[in-house]
Amino acid sequence: MLTKTEQAILEDRTIFQKKVIPVTTYNGNILKSAQNNTKLGKGKGIITKGPWSGFPLFTFTLEERKTCPRSCHHYGDCYGNNMFRANRYKNDENLIPRLRDEIASMDAMYKGFVIRLHVLGDFYSVEYVQFWSQMLEKHSGLHIYGYTARYFDNIGEEIRKNLAPHNRVSIRFSVDSTNLERLDPNIFTPDLLATDESVSNIPFVVCPEQTEQTESCLTCGLCFNKNFRKAVKFLNH
Ligand code: SF4
Repeated sequence: MLTKTEQAILEDRTIFQKKVIPVTTYNGNILKSAQNNTKLGKGKGIITKGPWSGFPLFTFTLEERKTCPRSCHHYGDCYGNNMFRANRYKNDENLIPRLRDEIASMDAMYKGFVIRLHVLGDFYSVEYVQFWSQMLEKHSGLHIYGYTARYFDNIGEEIRKNLAPHNRVSIRFSVDSTNLERLDPNIFTPDLLATDESVSNIPFVVCPEQTEQTESCLTCGLCFNKNFRKAVKFLNH
């Protein structure tokens, strides 16, 4: 008899299937203020440090495993396994139009704003990566940051070549230590790497929020500062 977690891994999905919400059944915004997140905002929503200081921060959440590569080194112990309250927005045909509308509304409202991709989940297709590139072209206020376990597949290639280099994007690649030497030296710059495995052979800092050196991501900003050319190491997952 498999556990709930083992069954979810086997079926490449979240444990909490009732928390996968089709956007057509959800009336609120699917881009959420960081103030709702206990690490990113802790009750506040405006970035106060780094080049994006003054911008509001929003988060976006997809279904873990369903949208992730099986090669992710946290495929089994994904922290989504403990996030039974979080809504995951279903990546069906209605998702992109809804994102398009919400991004357009935000761009009309703010001079600059930041979306954290993805609290759970990952870039799930080349077309989805290209969607974000198109949004950046269309909306000058849009800024993006996040982490991805995509690197070696065609989705990772699209991110590396056409999304990560954009000056309003900061994507960090999450790879385990056994794969570090496989990275393309042209893209393997510390500002594009995040890992919670051994990173002792490259320059890194431990996430200051986890060591209580800063209140939240809003008051830190390292992950979305492209001038910060070190890896970020996370103490726990
Ligand atoms: S290093 Fe800073 S921005 Fe990155 S996760 Fe930690 S607190 Fe947030």
